[in-house]
Amino acid sequence: MILKNISILYGSDLKLVEKTNVEVSGNKFKKISSKITSSKNAINCEDILLIPGLINSHTHIGDSIAKDLGLNKTVDSKINPVFGMKQKILRETPPKKLIQFMRKTSQSMIKKGITCFVDFREGGLEGVFLAKKALKGIPIRSIILGRIEKYQSTDQIKKNLSISNHYQKELEFLLKYCDGLGISGSNENSDSSLKQFSKTKKLRAIHCAETKQSFSKSKSITKKTEVQRGLLLNPHFLIHMTYATKNDLKLASKKTKGIVVCPRANASLAEGIPDVEQMMKMKCNLAIGTDNVMINSPDLFREMDFLWKVTMGINKKRIDPKKILKMATVNAGKLLDKKIGCIKEGYLADAVFIKKKHVDLDPLGDPYAAIVHRASEKSISAVMIGGKIVHGKI
Ligand SMILES: [Zn+2]
Repeated sequence: MILKNISILYGSDLKLVEKTNVEVSGNKFKKISSKITSSKNAINCEDILLIPGLINSHTHIGDSIAKDLGLNKTVDSKINPVFGMKQKILRETPPKKLIQFMRKTSQSMIKKGITCFVDFREGGLEGVFLAKKALKGIPIRSIILGRIEKYQSTDQIKKNLSISNHYQKELEFLLKYCDGLGISGSNENSDSSLKQFSKTKKLRAIHCAETKQSFSKSKSITKKTEVQRGLLLNPHFLIHMTYATKNDLKLASKKTKGIVVCPRANASLAEGIPDVEQMMKMKCNLAIGTDNVMINSPDLFREMDFLWKVTMGINKKRIDPKKILKMATVNAGKLLDKKIGCIKEGYLADAVFIKKKHVDLDPLGDPYAAIVHRASEKSISAVMIGGKIVHGKI
């Protein structure tokens, strides 16, 4: 397929290139040049801005059935992995129903230009199988991070007990069926358990410093911050870091591939806003996620808009919108160490066709600002995943 006369945000710096041609072959971008001789089946895309497919780096689509339930409850009574109301709902809902709503969320994400999402899956092996069933036949790229349903008590953490052989075996089995581990947090796991988990060869990620309460709990039980302990997992990336200290951020920037912030989820739980300005200063690689469907909509356009404005509003300092768009694209590709999130030769052909002339965007004064705070599902003409048009048309 050749897309001719198209505008694109090219490469890892999202450079605007106008009137070029893009050749897609198989599932990858093969050649990008104004000099490609167009064949008969070339598609004229002069009114299109092609941007990398958006990557939602943190979700829990499993709770799609529980949208906006328990709005006034505290964070813990809502989503604590051991006693939160979310767990009760998931336990008591027939799997068929859970699957039905997980499918709806995946379809909704594709319509919103999300071509890949990274899901923290609860429910052990059964939970992983449930997600696989839900995603069957839906062309979105998914990275499923599972976990075993074993949460240690404060006492077990203080005694630094490791997980039993039984759970270790369960973990090894689980990892055969998913892309890695998504650990709930360091407050539910002892140092030795975290070290044990660090031996897995697949992706490793952990929630860290999400709330003031989780931050102080870790300090009071272990005298260490959640981040210091979370790093025992040797994680590829950390989720949230809303209450991270400067030293925590320094450690994260040195020892991980990055941080996934979830600003709207944090705000909707009345738990603050991640300080991305400070994170950028500390040279952390930043990606963005929408977190639980229960508390937030899986829409990265809204997420980017919110993060951009709220950060500038709080710090009274401008941020280049391109930096925000990178969080939902190229930075996420780097964090996951995959050839996605970037329109460049050799990368997987995941992209969103934006209508330049759409009533919400025309005239396009700044393409980065336009995507971050004006674009929506309505300004999308088509979505391509792995070289195939999976939504809309061009
Ligand atoms: Zn989460």
